[in-house]
Amino acid sequence: MNEHSPTIIPFNRSSLVGKEMDYLAQAVANGHISGDGDFSKRCHRLLEETLGVKKALLTTSCTHALEMAAMLLDVQPGDEIIVPSFTFVSTINAFVLRGAAPVFADIRSDTLNLDEDKIFSLITKRTKAIIAMHYGGVSCEMNKISALANLPLIEDNAHGLFGKFNGKFLGTLSQFATLSFHETKNFSCGEGGALLLNREEDIERAEIIREKGTNRSRFFRGQVDKYSWVDIGSSFLPSDMLAAFLLGQLEERERIQVKRKEIWQTYYQQLTDWAEMNKVGLPTIPAHCEQAYHLFYLLMPSLDARQKLIKHLNRLGIMSVFHYQPLHLSPMGRKFGGKIGDCPITEQISDRLLRLPFYFSLSETEQQIIINSVRSFNC
Ligand SMILES: *Cc1c(COP(=O)(O)O)cnc(C)c1O
Repeated sequence: MNEHSPTIIPFNRSSLVGKEMDYLAQAVANGHISGDGDFSKRCHRLLEETLGVKKALLTTSCTHALEMAAMLLDVQPGDEIIVPSFTFVSTINAFVLRGAAPVFADIRSDTLNLDEDKIFSLITKRTKAIIAMHYGGVSCEMNKISALANLPLIEDNAHGLFGKFNGKFLGTLSQFATLSFHETKNFSCGEGGALLLNREEDIERAEIIREKGTNRSRFFRGQVDKYSWVDIGSSFLPSDMLAAFLLGQLEERERIQVKRKEIWQTYYQQLTDWAEMNKVGLPTIPAHCEQAYHLFYLLMPSLDARQKLIKHLNRLGIMSVFHYQPLHLSPMGRKFGGKIGDCPITEQISDRLLRLPFYFSLSETEQQIIINSVRSFNC
């Protein structure tokens, strides 16, 4: 950027927060940069101790953690999974890869999470699992969802690390949960994820699936005297260099979350009157949910107003973006029978939602520019 170019505020920017680079150098100096080295183990321990999960396993992405969950459940052709249509592709694709058919459920208009009241009628004898995704790190109604049926429940918690529901950490409210450490998430190593396991009996098989279907983990612990091919699996371990970088971020979790909370609250407080005047919706956070401060969105009155605000901000050097398009209406979703009208809330919300820049290194000055620019727009 030269001095004549306008200020550009990107939608997201990754930054160094703590000891990422020191740890990365240490990982290299350790002479061990493949998976499950010292830094991977430290990340596992930190997640297990902080969240209180039985086991945390780093993966190469949240997508891969979801694929592991599908393998662990033995998802097969003929199975159905109940999923929100308003989510990232991988939430569903991981199960479709095993042959399952998605059954799309609509979302609540306040939290934009899976609507617990619309799930029961979708359950059939083929239903294999329900996948809950905590949008923006605000919890789904987990008690009501788990009470619906005796079915495995999985949390796609890509947005919600350290968020809580009724005082309990997200990721501990289901059989398996997945995390993402992609560059756009609160904690990142560029590309990465984790699978969280809440039942002792799933741990051994998860380790095998993550190690190409071999019992290599047990071999390294001296529990078997040679390792062999015992199940299906793939290579889901990230390099210890990525774990080193990630540990640097996870150790700064309080500072990161405090900053993100400030950014979120500043947006909320300084846009409330403008939003009311312009019939724009702001995020709803139920009292029993402690959100993870993953994103800040505006619900514009119409698609047209949303597109105009994106353009308006863009002209002022501010990048804002929309979010998920209804997956039941995507070319793949339509192959599974998705059609207009199946998920009406998803269909209208996805046209109206706009996300504002939100990242750790966003300065007060930058945020003020963004807020003033939004406020200079009238629907
Ligand atoms: C980011 C995201 C993913 C995928 O994460 P990757 O680590 O990039 O695979 C999955 N689900 C949701 C809800 C996400 O936001």
